[in-house]
Parts: sequence; C-alpha cells; structure tokens
Amino acid sequence: MNIPLAKPDITQREIDAVTEVLKSGILSIGPKIEEFEKEIADYIGVKHAVAVNSGTSGLHLIIKALGIGYGDEVITTPFSFISSSNCILFEGAIPVFVDIDEKTLNIDIDKIEEKITSKTKAILAVDVFGQPVDMDKIHQIAKKHHLKVIEDSCEALGSEYKNIKCGKNCDAGVFAFYPNKQITTGEGGIIVTDDDKIADLCRSMRSQGRAITGTWLYHERLGYNYRLSELHAALGVVQMERIEEILQKREEVANVYNQLLKKIEGVTIPCIDKDVNKMSWFVYVIRLDENMDRNKIMEKLQKRGIGCKPYFTPIHVQPFYQDQVKEKFKVTDKVAAKTIALPFYTGMKKQEIEYIVEQLVDILKKYKA
Ligand SMILES: *Cc1c(COP(=O)(O)O)cnc(C)c1O
Repeated sequence: MNIPLAKPDITQREIDAVTEVLKSGILSIGPKIEEFEKEIADYIGVKHAVAVNSGTSGLHLIIKALGIGYGDEVITTPFSFISSSNCILFEGAIPVFVDIDEKTLNIDIDKIEEKITSKTKAILAVDVFGQPVDMDKIHQIAKKHHLKVIEDSCEALGSEYKNIKCGKNCDAGVFAFYPNKQITTGEGGIIVTDDDKIADLCRSMRSQGRAITGTWLYHERLGYNYRLSELHAALGVVQMERIEEILQKREEVANVYNQLLKKIEGVTIPCIDKDVNKMSWFVYVIRLDENMDRNKIMEKLQKRGIGCKPYFTPIHVQPFYQDQVKEKFKVTDKVAAKTIALPFYTGMKKQEIEYIVEQLVDILKKYKA
C-alpha cells in the first residue's frame, strides 16, 4: 500500500467550474472572486472577506493594515507553520514567542503577559491543527494592554469555540487553501474582518495599492499583486458549497483513528479542548512517549508506504531563525520532538487507516529508543 500524507478532494463539479471560467474568457478580477468572498464571509459570519493568492499574503496584508512596522513586537507561538511568524518579519517587526500549552498545543495564554513590553503592538494567535485558541482570554489581555488581535486560522476553517467560528473573534483572521488544507483553491487565502478600514486597505494592497474606488493605474499606497485568479476562486466556490460534507468526512476519519489508537501504549491521540463545540480536522497528529525514537519510527512508516511528517518542527529552531532566537521553549521542544502527522484526507478509507495503525503498532514494538 502507498498512502500519501494528504490529498485534495476534487470532484467533477470542481473540474466543470474551472472549465467554465476558462470558457468565459474572464480569468482574473471577475464574478467568481466576489462569489467566493461572499460565501466565506457568510460562513464565518463577518462583514468582509478579501481573497488573496495565499494564506501568507493574507497575514502580510493584515500586519500592514494594522500599521505594524519596524521594531514593533508581536506576540505569537513557535509551534506553527513558518509563515505565521515570517509575516511579522516582512515588515521589520519582531516575533516574540511564547511557549505552548501541552494539551491543546496552542499558545499558553497564561504566559503571554510576561512577554508584553512597551513595543508590543499585537497578539498573533494560531489555531494549530484546527484546534481553536480561547480568543476570549486573548481579548482580555489585548484590551488591558491596548493590543491588536490577529487570528491565523489557516488550519481551522469551520472550527468553533464556544459557538464562535475561528477567524471571527479578532481584528482580522486568515484562512488558507493550499491543497492539504480542509478546502483548496490550489494556492490561495482569504482575510476575514468586521473592520471596514482593514478590509479597504487589504483590498487596495492586494491589487498594487490601487484606490479603493478601483481606478486603474492610480496607486494610493505601496501595494502588491496578491490577487486570486478567477480559476482559483471558481474552485473555491464549489469547495465551499461542499464544506459541510468535507468536514463531516474528515471528522469520520479522525474518529476511526481515535478509536484504533486510543488504547495503543506509547501513543497519545489529539486532545480537543472541552469548549471546542466543532472541530475542523486539518491533520491527524499523534504524540509518541518520551522513550520512543520518533525519527526512526517515522522512517520505518515511510518505508512501508505510509506518508508521514514531523509536525511541526518549531519556528525558533528553523535554520533561518536559529541565530535570532536564542531562547528555549520547554513545552514546544518536548512536544515537537515526539509528534508525527499520519496520512489524513477527506474520504480516507477505513482499510487504509487500519493498515496504518497495524504497521505503527508493529513498528512501535521494535523501535523503542
Ligand atoms: C497553511 C498555513 C499558512 C498559510 O500558508 P500558505 O501556503 O501561504 O497558504 C499560514 N499559517 C499556518 C499556521 C498554516 O498552516
């Protein structure tokens, strides 16, 4: 058997929708991007959605729209995908890392305040692996210290915490649509916000800094080409129409994994916070016991045709960050040394999951560190 780590769920409907755009002759700045933005805004329950060509572009525009710049500090988590921190560096600002909570793997909210200085401008929280951050608590701290709040919900489209969708309870949130995410547009991302000014600025900056009125070849500010094409947007429109079905199927896969793995010695399954009333599964990440050699076990799984990855290698130990961040993050380092993302995608078959678990159990017997 050969089981990939992730794969997109593309049906004939998506293929037809993209073909239609090709036939229409309108390949960029057309009706599909507006349709996609409306679907996302309605789904999340926000006033504005601004589609861009990646989640990273979305994060960058939010940093700019909030006026975060040179020497400013932004509090964030080291246990994330690199771009949630890179977007801060793009503007010469400084990511200030806070260690994570061992259960939820999200930023440890109790450790945020000790990192706040006179230079702190914002908190950038990440809903890691789809697990929502407690944004109410983040807001309490932000309010007290007059900070902006950004939610990187790139891994959490559809997750809900105390009945509020991820990406909504903040100044601005972002989702991403790379092919391994819950829904995909190939490449793509979207900014969500209730703030008119942030939305206007992001719309202008994604399209070369054009005036909000859209006048061509009239540029009011420094901008970029972060536009999402009509082909990508059309793909997103169909994926959003199928979102409930997609999330349901992913939950079923996670449930099968949970059932099969919960009693396996040496393996800890994902722990979902009690206040998460809907979990949108992005990946399925297990944690091995301290005495297990994660890398060796991963190598053996790969040899048996099972796609898997160390999720995540923390940001502060990435080669590019190592020289800049000397601090250690005890929980992050401990967790990250033992986590493995197993194959996970919409519509994965029960036999495939059973095969993976059988192989894992067999390997675990032989490879204790
Ligand atoms: C996927 C992801 C992003 C954005 O990735 P792009 O490839 O730029 O779309 C940002 N943050 C996190 C946590 C992600 O998982």
